[in-house]
Amino acid sequence: MVKEMEITLCHLYPYSMNIYGDTGNMRTLEYRLVARGFKVNVLKADIGDKISHEVDIIVAGGGQDSGQLHVKSDLHKRKKEILSLHDDGVVFLTICGTYQLLGHRFTTHSGDDITGLGVFNLQTKGSSERLIGNIVVDSPFGTLVGFENHSGLTYLDDDQQPLGKVLKGAGNNGQTGDEGAISKNAFGTYLHGPILPKNPKLADELIRRALKRKYGFSDELVELDDREENKAAAIALELPR
Ligand code: GLN
Repeated sequence: MVKEMEITLCHLYPYSMNIYGDTGNMRTLEYRLVARGFKVNVLKADIGDKISHEVDIIVAGGGQDSGQLHVKSDLHKRKKEILSLHDDGVVFLTICGTYQLLGHRFTTHSGDDITGLGVFNLQTKGSSERLIGNIVVDSPFGTLVGFENHSGLTYLDDDQQPLGKVLKGAGNNGQTGDEGAISKNAFGTYLHGPILPKNPKLADELIRRALKRKYGFSDELVELDDREENKAAAIALELPR
């Protein structure tokens, strides 16, 4: 029964990596679970805090290069734990700065080298030009809308699945036409916005994967009234770059 099912959300680095309102992603997941009668447990883990091993979905936001350098050693201490959670099928949604840090390497524009965790097979190099603006991405979870603001150019290894194909904007690097990455149940993307409120199909995909992993739940999720979400997405779709 739905009401006996509980999903634990953990916001990783809610204070240290959260420069463009990515907390809205946590709110959206919580709302879309509670509205369907699921129980939700909302946790936070910043520098030095433990991540509960009951976690089902980990959400992490964006950050300036300085923020990424600030969390670097804490993130490295979590490498074994994060990789084991990823291997175990825990769902991740990582945005921009944390997305970059879950690759193999991020070299900032000023030349600081940060070894990533290797969840995604990609590397990122800071550039002198920032990629900023509204972005539209064709993905298996619908046409995604958001905005991007990054200097990092991310290049996927040949075996790394992207989240989608750029229809408007830059995406991973402004050259290869791909945006984001998916590895098992880990999602990485440059889309701020926050991404989930205006992209309900993607939010529900994360929820679906978490329920399937934890309870083997594969029923169709109850439809929610997404008229506001879809109206906001339609407006975002028409915004200039
Ligand atoms: N500091 C990274 C970059 O500039 C990430 C930025 C972000 O999280 N928006 O590429």
